[in-house]
Amino acid sequence: MQVDHVVCAFCGCDCDDISVVVDGDRIVQVKNACILGRSWFLKHGRSLSLPVATIEGRPATLQEAVEAAAQYLAGARYPLIYGLSSTTCEAQRLSVALAEVLGGCIDCCTSICHGPSGIAVQAVGEPTCTLGEVKNRADLVIYWGSNPAESHPRHMARYAVAAKGMFVPEGRRGRTVVVVDVRPTPSARAADIFLQIRPGKDFEVLWALQALVKGRNPEASSLRGTGLQLEQLRELADRMMHCKFGVLFVGQGLTQTRGRHFNTAAAFLLVRALHRYTKFALIPMRGHGNVAGIDNVLGWQTGYPFAVNFSLGYPRYGPGEYTAADVLARCEADAAVIIASDPVASLPGPAARRLAQIPTIALDTHESETTRVARVVFTTGTSGIHAEGTVYRMDNIPIRLRKVLDCRYPSDEQVLEMLLARVKELKAC
Ligand code: SF4
Repeated sequence: MQVDHVVCAFCGCDCDDISVVVDGDRIVQVKNACILGRSWFLKHGRSLSLPVATIEGRPATLQEAVEAAAQYLAGARYPLIYGLSSTTCEAQRLSVALAEVLGGCIDCCTSICHGPSGIAVQAVGEPTCTLGEVKNRADLVIYWGSNPAESHPRHMARYAVAAKGMFVPEGRRGRTVVVVDVRPTPSARAADIFLQIRPGKDFEVLWALQALVKGRNPEASSLRGTGLQLEQLRELADRMMHCKFGVLFVGQGLTQTRGRHFNTAAAFLLVRALHRYTKFALIPMRGHGNVAGIDNVLGWQTGYPFAVNFSLGYPRYGPGEYTAADVLARCEADAAVIIASDPVASLPGPAARRLAQIPTIALDTHESETTRVARVVFTTGTSGIHAEGTVYRMDNIPIRLRKVLDCRYPSDEQVLEMLLARVKELKAC
């Protein structure tokens, strides 16, 4: 049986034009997806032999595991909830409720990818647009610190470069593509202009560009050590001011290098300065399928996009203080719930080691470094294959995931609902 209009929730593009062929309890064919999306559907769209839950490595029923997890959490003084970038907004909303009931911390993968973009948004505002506007209007596309050809393989073809839009009917021939990066990448090879910048020099270059756009004359010496010449920036600033609709996609090359939120704030201010001349927008290249969703859910429920603490009974925001890597590395968290993420493999060593020392509860679709150290593990269905729900694309457009396969595992949402109800009983809320 073929199921059409399926959403691939692997990366922040959330392509919604995928078709999958289902045979019994597995996906056997995937159409329209890129290589990453195809392998995601084929890997998750097959039956697993993992138990529904385990407690300290032994198979358990769902109810037993919920009870054990709830007891650990209710007895903790400072529990941490982390992950959430590859699950649905419905599960994310329950996670926020759980953090509030527990009086703990909640943080998400944003803190190790585009957290600096979130901080910059709060500082200077975000001049942004949707990918639909990019497709239909953009005649100048700039990727800065991002390599979509490998990280988001359909981004260029579906939304930004080759796509034929209402006001860009020629598609690729109607757009100028610029890549700014520290090394030549497959994306750079697909660009019209490649500017190779020295690592850690993004802020200086963005600030000089802003000065040029504002009609000032930065000294050539201000670009010393950046790898670029003033003439190259003059040419780029000129292109930016004279395009009809430009868009700047910023990646982790900007947010996770020296300068972090100053880099993204400089990019936002550059785009704002360009509004004197033309229409210009900026979109962060979000990695996971619903990492933009957890920012939105936390934003509308607590007012902050990540690193939120409930220990005083109301939400407080503290990047660097309430971010998972810091709370764990300082050995403050005494229990953790990890949802759809593998922090043992991705966080720094001291934080990862702490997860092995404390009662960690993991919800994941497959075995990982984190499920190997967790005391209680729930195997859950994959959002977008075994469970429906809502995700946010990288441009903050909500998209509904379809369920294409039945499975014997509960969804993240179902497990969190049971866990929240039992914790409330134990806490006598
Ligand atoms: S670009 Fe991303 S969302 Fe689209 S098919 Fe590939 S992995 Fe899936």
